[in-house]
Amino acid sequence: MPRGRRPARDEGVDRPAHATLASVHHAITTCERCPRLREYCARIAREKKRAHRDDTYWGRPVPGFGDPGARLLVLGLAPAAHGANRTGRVFTGDAPGGSGDFLMEAMHAHGFANQPFTRSIDDGLALRDAFIAAAVRCAPPDNRPTPAEIATCASHLDAELACLPRLSVVMALGRIACDAYFAWLARHGMPVRPRPAFAHGAAWLPPAATLRGPGRVAPALVMAYHPSRQNTNTGRLTQAMLRDAFATARRMLGDADPARGPAPAP
Ligand code: SF4
Repeated sequence: MPRGRRPARDEGVDRPAHATLASVHHAITTCERCPRLREYCARIAREKKRAHRDDTYWGRPVPGFGDPGARLLVLGLAPAAHGANRTGRVFTGDAPGGSGDFLMEAMHAHGFANQPFTRSIDDGLALRDAFIAAAVRCAPPDNRPTPAEIATCASHLDAELACLPRLSVVMALGRIACDAYFAWLARHGMPVRPRPAFAHGAAWLPPAATLRGPGRVAPALVMAYHPSRQNTNTGRLTQAMLRDAFATARRMLGDADPARGPAPAP
């Protein structure tokens, strides 16, 4: 896989600035297109979990979060029923040491987050040059959205990414997020066939043949296992492995890496 390319900062697939991030987020949080998911999220918000019985659950679709000037997009799967569906922020609200903390620890190590943990929407977390979104914005039963639900939610990803004009690298957390990235490319006139196989830590650059028109450059891809408890508790994904993936993203952005010291002279 090619590595180490430095995408130009302001290049990008045609991304019309027809909407603001605020208006896109309003459209996401008021969306009712998937009855199964809306009913599930609302039920979870009513019934709650014993540990959070005094909380007011968000219970709505969850928009992306981060720096509007981000060059890195971290793309996950979907909100967790008692995590983001409770707090209203992606990768926020699972128990300490859960997937949110695991992700934020790695992002903080590489300078993409101001703190190595995430607890609640008012915990002071700020992302730097990074934005986090999910392929599906409503918590699905058993963390399994249907293909139809993934496809239905794709327009929200399109709209959100249209508001990130500096986007250069996408880190896809898991196979479904990886598929969402390739589907996004295809919707923008850049189908990739065959698609590269999913492999943790692999980097992929859109070949020139997929690009249309002068100056069009699609964001590069870094693949990583999703930091779900199933992956982290079993050692399938370690903190070192996730940090290595963020180091690859840093290299692709052409930056000095806070975790590794200054970038070598060109
Ligand atoms: S999953 Fe996406 S498209 Fe479906 S209801 Fe939620 S926000 Fe809307």
